[in-house]
Amino acid sequence: MSAKLLINLNKIKNNISFWQNLCQQHNIKLIGVGKGCPASPKVARLIGNTTSIYGDSRLNRLRELKKAGVDFELSLLRIPSPSELEAVVKYSDISFNSQLRVIRKLNQAAINLNQPHQIILMLESGDLREGIYPPENSIKIAAEVENMEGLKLIGVAANFSCYGGIKPDTNKLNSLIQTAEKIESRLARKLEIISGGATTSLPLLLENKLPARINQLRLGEALLLGRDIQDIWGYELPELNTDSFLLEAEVIEVAKKPSKPYGEISVDAFGQRPSFEDRGMRKRAILAIGRADFVYPDQLIPCQQDIEVLGASSDHLILDIQESKTPIELGDRLRFQLYYGPLVHLSQSNDVEKVIIN
Ligand SMILES: *Cc1c(COP(=O)(O)O)cnc(C)c1O
Repeated sequence: MSAKLLINLNKIKNNISFWQNLCQQHNIKLIGVGKGCPASPKVARLIGNTTSIYGDSRLNRLRELKKAGVDFELSLLRIPSPSELEAVVKYSDISFNSQLRVIRKLNQAAINLNQPHQIILMLESGDLREGIYPPENSIKIAAEVENMEGLKLIGVAANFSCYGGIKPDTNKLNSLIQTAEKIESRLARKLEIISGGATTSLPLLLENKLPARINQLRLGEALLLGRDIQDIWGYELPELNTDSFLLEAEVIEVAKKPSKPYGEISVDAFGQRPSFEDRGMRKRAILAIGRADFVYPDQLIPCQQDIEVLGASSDHLILDIQESKTPIELGDRLRFQLYYGPLVHLSQSNDVEKVIIN
């Protein structure tokens, strides 16, 4: 295959150690989340083996790992589908839940299979994806779960920055803790886990603002790429490897062309009406890879800083190479660092070969 996703397991491992060390100092355990790189069991195993709990939103991936007999715990991050509850019990040790009716059936499935199952209640915290709303409703639900034979309630969780773009803050986490403590007094026991979010909770950790009772984070992007914390949140953390995954794609056309499309402008391949600046004649290259593989051309970062991504159609990526100091020839392979979005798609593309390079 001409396009490759190069995967450096050592670099991912270093990223995991970096966050694990920092979290350990704050008594925080990690769920290592691998859903950013589906279709690479080696990455999933590395994450699971180093963090001891592997999290994914897709049951399919957990099933593969369970069947392969891995010895880390498996956690289903997306709340269960009502039609798959037996599989949830079979293939995950822990699931996140927000619907009492589903929890009741999950309990039944666990009893039927004679397989105890742990759950964490997801509480709505403002981002408006999954979660019990209002969060106080979780107290009653917890009390009911406490009497279920098949399930063990191990904690509560919040999620942020997924749908609504709402960022975690100390207030929101304190209110999660308050609800957890109400559950604890109702059950007359401690909850093992208060799970304070994902990669976007890391700024709070770095600022020492994560409330002490938060003792779990579920990290995906920060382990795989470590890019958001630097590029979006502005922290300089040179210890992190943002290049643990690289896209490599092949040049199939090199030509000097006008920079502004000519003729009557209508719509591009995706029904959008594009606009262009006229920069005169420029040297361009086309690579044999496209939106069908990575979806977001503006989230590819050329390793060579003197080339520029102009755009892409389904199967072609178009670059401006006018300023390139190294000559770019037909058949050359160019490399790109990735944001999370392209990584998710590239790792699932059948036309992109996954190559472990270290
Ligand atoms: C995807 C996901 C995570 C991990 O998110 P990152 O931003 O990659 O750290 C954590 N929790 C839940 C519920 C998720 O769906």
